[in-house]
Amino acid sequence: MSLSQLTQEIMQQAEKKGFGTKPEDINVAEKIALIHSEISEAFEAYRHKNMNGKDGFEEELGDAVQRILHLCGIFDIDIEQSIIKKIEANKDRKWEWDKMNENHN
Ligand SMILES: [Mg+2]
Repeated sequence: MSLSQLTQEIMQQAEKKGFGTKPEDINVAEKIALIHSEISEAFEAYRHKNMNGKDGFEEELGDAVQRILHLCGIFDIDIEQSIIKKIEANKDRKWEWDKMNENHN
């Protein structure tokens, strides 16, 4: 199933469950906070070595992606195209790692 198909599924479920399908139905700040929350849950699961169990790393990353795709559906964002564009842009992009407090390999 593609990301676009998953977004359609998520939007159908959002309509049935009343999670919102249009920008005016939702509070964007709250939805973004909930994405942060799922990412933090993934980190906690990783810390506790719960990779595949209930509330595990895998499940929480899935929750985060699902919430992101819900926002994409609401704002009619073609996330596959956005990702493809960014991958292309990064091909020739140079990072100045020596000017950053970030590790890389
Ligand atoms: Mg979760």
